[in-house]
Amino acid sequence: MGRQAGLLFEVDEDRCFGCAACVALCPVNALTLEGLLAIVDEPSCTHCEHCIPACPVHALSLVRDEKTPVYGVLA
Ligand code: SF4
Ligand code: SF4
Repeated sequence: MGRQAGLLFEVDEDRCFGCAACVALCPVNALTLEGLLAIVDEPSCTHCEHCIPACPVHALSLVRDEKTPVYGVLA
């Protein structure tokens, strides 16, 4: 299971309330809790999506990395 090119794993800081459900589930320990916010070490995340359905407030998602041009065109 590899990382998905052009995507980044993201925690929605406005939604996360620090329940830690995702932190406990991550098989590679890419998530940590800082106060009441889950923080992802994105380069460590394998994009496995295990944690995403566990979040009760849907704060976890894979989003397009705006810095990775889809068609390889540099601005
Ligand atoms: S997608 Fe997988 S590797 Fe990434 S933070 Fe969630 S459980 Fe961990
Ligand atoms: S499961 Fe959702 S609300 Fe709970 S710590 Fe993770 S991101 Fe935050």
